[in-house]
Amino acid sequence: MSTFDESYDFVVVGSGGGSMCAGLVLRRAGKSVLILEKTALIGGTTARSGGVMWIPNNRFMKRDGVPDSKEQAMAYMDAVIGDHNDTPGATRARREAYVDNGAEMVDFLVDQGIKLNRVSYWPDYNDELPGSSEQGRTVVAELFNVNELGEQKAKLRPNFIPIMSTLDEMLKLRFIKKSWESKRIAVRFGLRTIWAKLTGKHYVTAGAALQGRMFQAALKAGIEFRTEASVKELVVENNAVKGVVVEIDGKAMRIGARAGVLVNAGGFAQNQEMRDKYIPHTSTKWTNTTEGDTGEMIREMMRHGAAIAQMEEMVGNQMSIPPGMENDAVKPVVQGVTAAPHAILVDQSGVRYMNEAGSYMTYCQGMLARHKTVPAVPSYAIMDMQYMKNYGLVTPLPTTKRPQEWFDSGYMKKADTIEELATMLKMEPATLRATVDRFNGFVAKNHDDDFNRGDRAYDRWLGDRYHEKNASLGSISEGPFYAVPVVPGDVGTYGGVVTDANARVLREDGYPIEGLYATGVSTASVMGRAYAGAGASVGPSFVWGYVAAKHVLAQS
Ligand SMILES: Cc1cc2nc3c(=O)[nH]c(=O)nc-3n(C[C@H](O)[C@H](O)[C@H](O)COP(=O)(O)OP(=O)(O)OC[C@H]3O[C@@H](n4cnc5c(N)ncnc54)[C@H](O)[C@@H]3O)c2cc1C
Repeated sequence: MSTFDESYDFVVVGSGGGSMCAGLVLRRAGKSVLILEKTALIGGTTARSGGVMWIPNNRFMKRDGVPDSKEQAMAYMDAVIGDHNDTPGATRARREAYVDNGAEMVDFLVDQGIKLNRVSYWPDYNDELPGSSEQGRTVVAELFNVNELGEQKAKLRPNFIPIMSTLDEMLKLRFIKKSWESKRIAVRFGLRTIWAKLTGKHYVTAGAALQGRMFQAALKAGIEFRTEASVKELVVENNAVKGVVVEIDGKAMRIGARAGVLVNAGGFAQNQEMRDKYIPHTSTKWTNTTEGDTGEMIREMMRHGAAIAQMEEMVGNQMSIPPGMENDAVKPVVQGVTAAPHAILVDQSGVRYMNEAGSYMTYCQGMLARHKTVPAVPSYAIMDMQYMKNYGLVTPLPTTKRPQEWFDSGYMKKADTIEELATMLKMEPATLRATVDRFNGFVAKNHDDDFNRGDRAYDRWLGDRYHEKNASLGSISEGPFYAVPVVPGDVGTYGGVVTDANARVLREDGYPIEGLYATGVSTASVMGRAYAGAGASVGPSFVWGYVAAKHVLAQS
């Protein structure tokens, strides 16, 4: 029999999305809960993120009259994810459990006083498929006054968005030059910032608002936290997980978990060795995950016989990194750039190869797939002066002026003609010329015959809704012409241990490892190799945390 320095009913490894959600369910039933976090800050990459959760058929959709149902959500997940032998994280049973528990989980959090809402319009990423929702299934936290955390405020991991603006507002702010609604939002946001300063409030948004609200509720409910507490081992006895070994202040402590252990320790985006093995041609230099995303808990679960799957997948996020920003914690993503008019993406031979307005995951999958036959890492975004006048690039707001260092370093190329630009990029001038001519031909007939860019609501949402004819198509015709490299960056890996519809970790033989649950990107995603819509990573982390806690209670 193992002896422990301390024991709790439930121990969570990592303070990611599902951790506090699971903890709240268990605390409400009177169970003791300890969350162990390796870094000095609570919240994981979830706190840094947009904090969007993709939750079908949720209460806010009902409130706003946005149609959805279990059947509709399942039809969409069937279509976008499908049944494949090599995606055991995304079985139909798991997809159904996700839909069933997602909306219930949101109701539970609202009952716990977590203020949530939806973004008014954020189409599912494959809205061309049956069962999709054009308005979207996103759930986000309302702005959170982080000062309400008192002394614990410093423990919350900050977000990448420094302004006191909701995601809904931010998504509209980018059209400030063209829309009165955006201008009104800018005024509202300005007044809110002044009012907050005068009244001693500090609002945080996105993932920090979500995890800040969760942290506040967790502390109130009596969940215990230890930071700078790195879990090194699972304690396994008679094939059942009984606790963990954690290093705190350089000392190993054994902590017992009477009812179970939940691993919510993120993925392996910060581990180059694991990347080289599972996702070659990608780099820790191109990830926006937090520093704790190093994958050791996936390896520790494997050591105890856990099956792994979908390890080649990541939540790709196309990046273009100018000089001086290489070491920024959050590097510039260029999601909207080649979805906007007057821009395309080409491989190193100067050829377009995909719909550049697809979801970030599909986009990076496309780059890596292309790279198998034609060098495409990096690929190049090609833009003209119309683009530069109207849209952002690295900076959110449009400007025709770019730092001289961008040109001097060779990061950004600028030329008077497409042929000259091609020469600077070491491409055959006639090839790039032909690519641009063909694209301009599609713009003229208002249809991209090669890749159907701009056909979907999602493409148009990502583009410029105020652009005449098609929000995603505009000619590349007004010099000078510009190019920047684009790499397949990421916001996290998407494969890990295989779990069942109760979030239990499974062995290779399909049987669960008793006492061991996992959620978030430590697991093989319920989304398989797809990204159903905004929040397809944080949403599952919360939902499977909730499901694990329910299963624990059902056993006790
Ligand atoms: C800028 C940005 C924006 C994003 N926006 C969204 C979005 O809006 N919606 C969405 O769905 N996804 C988004 N993503 C992706 C998403 O944030 C992550 O995939 C998701 O948060 C992962 O959550 P998780 O719960 O699995 O783990 P995390 O939130 O990363 O938490 C894992 C925690 O475990 C800790 N840990 C690791 N190992 C140990 C150990 N051995 N012992 C103790 N602790 C350990 C880590 O330090 C970390 O704090 C975004 C990502 C970024 C970077």
